[in-house]
Amino acid sequence: MSTIPKYFAIQGKAVEVQASYPDTPEGTALANARMEEQPGLGVLAVHADLILLADVKDLGKSLSLPLPKVSYKVCSCCGAATQGRQWPNRDKGFGLCLECVPFTARGYTASEHASIYGYRGIHFDIF
Ligand SMILES: [Zn+2]
Repeated sequence: MSTIPKYFAIQGKAVEVQASYPDTPEGTALANARMEEQPGLGVLAVHADLILLADVKDLGKSLSLPLPKVSYKVCSCCGAATQGRQWPNRDKGFGLCLECVPFTARGYTASEHASIYGYRGIHFDIF
């Protein structure tokens, strides 16, 4: 099973999130410790009470803008209701629920999975 990385949309790019910590004093201390340990990491954003860290050299993957709004979707795998952004390779109204990510990840590389379902963090399992 491949691991599906999580992305955050910023300035029209999907940037891979390397780590996230709660935006609390404890989370900030952990994020700072991680960045000291791994100098190539920097703060990508603070969003939804999370501190998101990314590789400072990661220029991201271009997204078509404007990003679709977050809306309710039907999981294309199990039929459950979920929230996400429309991905052009999915039928309108369909997305992917969190529970189905491990199942759908089997047999695909992360980039193949992204071409089918969109970017984790942006189109499904959203931040
Ligand atoms: Zn599902």
